[in-house]
Amino acid sequence: MTRIAFIGLGNMGGGMAANQAKAQRQVMAFDLSKAALEKAEGAGCSPAPSVAEAVKAADAVITMLPAGPHVRNVYAEQILPNAPKSALLIDCSTIDVESARAVAAQAKAAGFRFADAPVSGGVAAAEAGTLAFMVGCDDADFAAVEEALKPMSRVILRAGDHGAGQAAKICNNMVLGISMIGVCEALALAEKLGLDPVKFHEISSQSSGQCWSLTSYCPWPGPVPAAPSNRDYEGGFATAMMLKDLKLAQEAAAKAGAAAPLGAQAEGLYALFDGLGYGGKDFSAILNLFRGELT
Ligand code: NAD
Repeated sequence: MTRIAFIGLGNMGGGMAANQAKAQRQVMAFDLSKAALEKAEGAGCSPAPSVAEAVKAADAVITMLPAGPHVRNVYAEQILPNAPKSALLIDCSTIDVESARAVAAQAKAAGFRFADAPVSGGVAAAEAGTLAFMVGCDDADFAAVEEALKPMSRVILRAGDHGAGQAAKICNNMVLGISMIGVCEALALAEKLGLDPVKFHEISSQSSGQCWSLTSYCPWPGPVPAAPSNRDYEGGFATAMMLKDLKLAQEAAAKAGAAAPLGAQAEGLYALFDGLGYGGKDFSAILNLFRGELT
């Protein structure tokens, strides 16, 4: 039986680890949160007392942690000194490209195979096992990475070498952040012009304004029943998370000497919305900022 060590059992990692257990893999799980660990145990994982214990006999180690500093620390201090060299190491967190490359270099120098494999799709996709993975790894390791990620995935794409998965993720989310703001501005304008926003959704979804933010994740309640707009913007992808990803994109752009002015505008607008106290709401709730309807 494949032995998976799963570190980080939060909103995303909890569902992902459960899907590994459902696929009849032996999952040794660890999180600093006792509640998260108990939930994972209820989903068929074996709770470990520490990262060191979780990884010591693993075939693959999967991490799903908040941000770059957590990933750097957990790999350097706990995973690399304790996992068997044969273990395949996969970080699924969304972090900066530089940290991903630094951890990959450390892991490689210590004799491990490593992949950065951030995901697209939120908590619902993590629970359903339908995430999209963007992978940065050595070409020779990709088949093994695919096999390890399979129970959690809808699609697994190799973006390139180490760090390329994170680069794909932040570029994708910059498109998403910008497109959502564009859709929200247009819906708010439609309303002010006396055009029914639901009718606008129908028309633009079949015209050149069509995009994922409008057609699959409509911020106006009604047209897309599964969208968070129908649940008072609860669940989904939090504004604070979108802000984090837009900041990563701007940092990366500054380091690479790339201009990303619309990404900067989107970051500013999400920072404003977050500062008004809406960090926990789905990112599509920014519609109400443009409507002047903040409650
Ligand atoms: P979360 O805060 O719910 O979960 C992170 C977990 O890591 C927590 O349970 C925390 O206790 C644990 N943790 C922190 N430090 C640890 C350590 N040293 N050892 C063990 N456990 C530790 O966050 P999340 O929503 O699950 O997101 C995780 C990652 O996935 C983030 O990088 C996020 O950007 C990315 N992501 C999230 C979503 C989403 O919709 N929530 C979507 C795509 C990607």
